[in-house]
Amino acid sequence: MAGTILEKNVVAGQENPVDVLIIGGGMVGVTLALLLAREPGLHITLVEAISLPVLVPGEVLPFRPSFDARNTALSRRTVATYRELGLWDAMQTHATPIHEIHVSERGHFGMAHLRAAEEKVESFGQVIENAWLGLVLLQALKACSNVTVLDGVTLTGIEPGEKSVTAHLQRGNERFALTAPLLVAADGAQSVSRDFLGVAADSTPYEQVALVTTVATHLPHDNIAYERFTEHGPIALLPLPEGRRSVVWTLPLGEEKALIDCSDEAFLQQLQQAFGKRAGRFVKTGKRFAYPLVLTVAHIQALPRAVILGNAAHSLHPVAGQGFNLCLRDCLALTERLCEAHRQGRDLGDFSLLKAYEAARVDDQHNVIQFSDKIVRGFSNATPGLTLARNIGMVTFDLLPAAKQALARYAMGLNQ
Ligand SMILES: Cc1cc2nc3c(=O)[nH]c(=O)nc-3n(C[C@H](O)[C@H](O)[C@H](O)COP(=O)(O)OP(=O)(O)OC[C@H]3O[C@@H](n4cnc5c(N)ncnc54)[C@H](O)[C@@H]3O)c2cc1C
Repeated sequence: MAGTILEKNVVAGQENPVDVLIIGGGMVGVTLALLLAREPGLHITLVEAISLPVLVPGEVLPFRPSFDARNTALSRRTVATYRELGLWDAMQTHATPIHEIHVSERGHFGMAHLRAAEEKVESFGQVIENAWLGLVLLQALKACSNVTVLDGVTLTGIEPGEKSVTAHLQRGNERFALTAPLLVAADGAQSVSRDFLGVAADSTPYEQVALVTTVATHLPHDNIAYERFTEHGPIALLPLPEGRRSVVWTLPLGEEKALIDCSDEAFLQQLQQAFGKRAGRFVKTGKRFAYPLVLTVAHIQALPRAVILGNAAHSLHPVAGQGFNLCLRDCLALTERLCEAHRQGRDLGDFSLLKAYEAARVDDQHNVIQFSDKIVRGFSNATPGLTLARNIGMVTFDLLPAAKQALARYAMGLNQ
């Protein structure tokens, strides 16, 4: 149902002071708002283009586990953050821990096997259904008295000034402007606010799509996550509640259409053929969706009075499940700096403060972007020598505790 989630805070025009104005209420914008909201005296306004669902306080969240939704693998670091925010108890009712990770290449001998127990952790991370994650985050936002949410609002322009930045907004026929010391552009890979701020981005299409669906197999998933490289592209299989599994199948652009349009039986048969029998027999599938894959990296992330965050700053290939986990580490670093500045009575839009944030984050961002990109390109190459090298690499890797530990730490979001 369309509407606003925060009727009490919805204002046409600026009734309350705004310290941080966030454009974009996706996973990143909402998480940043929740992190900042813990700082007493800090006022946050979040602007979202889409009308958000109306959530009634005290009522059960309107969610039914489905075969149709996208899922996200949250690293241990991300889970720990939501735990600190007091949200993990609610989130984990629809989350599934990953106890093992199997990486293999179809038709070849190499295989890498990571076990959480060997790394002395309970899990490598958790897989959560995006729809549930969104509902829990929105409900938490609703409880924050220092956050105002304006949904169903379009951004029509940004006007940076010396002491503040102004966002021009529109809801229906109503036009209004909001002014704040700092604007955070968190409106996704196609960020309009990034454009309004005059920041260019490099976009490199992979000429691939991620076909996403949910399946059931005749065997239990045993909390194992699979990354299987096939001649058609990598297939990630992640464990979900009630024995379901999330599928992210990377395919050359154009090949997804037939797999979306065909019958469920035909799809299951082709998935089985591509993936093999490692996870058991695929017996049921949900609706299939396709996401075109493009590596997008903004040229800069810090400007006077503005920061570019989340997919607007860097949108990566989902092969390694690192995109959101990286964004969350950005959110933590930005929150730390902004809260400290607020306590010191400093200007939150001060360019040197925002530049320091950017400088602190570029290494981690660069490493994760390169890591994801190299996996995609390394495994897309069928040259015989490379195939052999990959497989020897995987076998030796499986025998090398130090290398395994390094990758495990990466998967858990502990290495930067
Ligand atoms: C198939 C797939 C699987 C993935 N799996 C994983 C995974 O397992 N683990 C992981 O860590 N990451 C994963 N990712 C990456 C993850 O989904 C992204 O990192 C994350 O969605 C980024 O969130 P965001 O809020 O920055 O952007 P978005 O999710 O794009 O949200 C942007 C928000 O801004 C709003 N908006 C847009 N324009 C405007 C405007 N002009 N004004 C106001 N609001 C606006 C949109 O409506 C939206 O709500 C995956 C990605 C894909 C494609």
